[in-house]
Amino acid sequence: MQVIYLDNNATTRVAPEVVEEMLPYLSEFYGNPSSMHSFGGRVGDKIKTAREQVARLIGASPEEIIFTSCGTESDSTAVRAALATQPDKKHIITSRVEHPAIKNLCEYLAKNDYRVTYVPVDREGRLDLDYLYRSLTDDTAIVSLMWANNESGVIFPIEEVAAKIKAKGILLHTDAVQAAGKVPVDVNASQVDMLSMSGHKIHAPKGVGVLYVRKATPYAPFMLGGHQEHGRRGGTENVASIIGLGKACEMAAEHLDDMQTRVRGLRDKLETALLTQIPNSMVNGTHDRDDRLPNTTSIAYEFVEGEAILLMMNELGICASSGSACTSGSLEPSHVLRAMNVPFTAAHGSIRYSLSSYTTAKEIDFVIEKMPPIISRLREMSPFWQEAAQNQLVGS
Ligand code: PLP
Repeated sequence: MQVIYLDNNATTRVAPEVVEEMLPYLSEFYGNPSSMHSFGGRVGDKIKTAREQVARLIGASPEEIIFTSCGTESDSTAVRAALATQPDKKHIITSRVEHPAIKNLCEYLAKNDYRVTYVPVDREGRLDLDYLYRSLTDDTAIVSLMWANNESGVIFPIEEVAAKIKAKGILLHTDAVQAAGKVPVDVNASQVDMLSMSGHKIHAPKGVGVLYVRKATPYAPFMLGGHQEHGRRGGTENVASIIGLGKACEMAAEHLDDMQTRVRGLRDKLETALLTQIPNSMVNGTHDRDDRLPNTTSIAYEFVEGEAILLMMNELGICASSGSACTSGSLEPSHVLRAMNVPFTAAHGSIRYSLSSYTTAKEIDFVIEKMPPIISRLREMSPFWQEAAQNQLVGS
């Protein structure tokens, strides 16, 4: 069966060019990059190239790049490093819509001596900047805010926020797992101190990530061990994946224009068609599409269950998500949609479509053709829809 993969915020296909780059390092070049001999040295050289490729994508210096096992590890390391190096400071600021990698860490820290402020977002998922600035105190060790949200695609104004936070001498970490490779991310324009990325969101394998740490930023390793990554992250490197990530970053830089134009155009076409053809549907996220990731649209269909929609889409080979991948095991609306105050009847029927450079116009046309009948069939069976129709709450 054909697969139309519109779940790229959950994970992406590994690019064939990336696989090709990795394969020799899973077979003939198996040396340890830390070894003295040239057989290992060759692997070390390739990791150096990967570090340069990653650095180039975000405007960093190669020495500022630390390879990790995933975005989650990068997020944890950043926050923990800020706390470990400033033991007198006990306050953390984050937002209400962070990925569980930050959310669950902050909830844990809040039970262990730290105070956490969660900055709210509005109905369109935009950060309450006044609330953020009012929350900064002399006791604030770190502000951790995502660059772009994995569910709504809403982009936070990290560059603007960075200027204010840095002026107060407070450390700023950003989770750019969804942003890097989709929108321009430049650590110099934004002046963030630390930034997280993950390989599997940009066509590299799962199980490799990056933590960018600006030069001279106080830092403490999370994983103690060998001298790898200049003592900033112990453990023998995930060589092939790091090499793949380097190639993926190089390709992401080359595809950035395609993402901003062609992919954005496909996303806009999909969103406009679904909103106009399906009554009682709405976007979760800002209506200013430029303030959302160009590949993402989250649409709420009132009075239907997201899981039922996904099942019917699945029968046609269309892959999407009813929330973030991490929350889709539960039927509760995600914490992101709840923080945005999306009405219960709409949050339950929310579908996130996330495209990639591999998405074609033909695929989008197919989805546009199939979604309206799926939603109307489910609504015919929905007592909530019948009741809403009786109360004249539905459009045509
Ligand atoms: N941060 C964001 C915004 C994400 O979307 C994800 C994954 O979905 C992560 C962090 C975690 O990344 P990883 O899966 O590499 O641990």
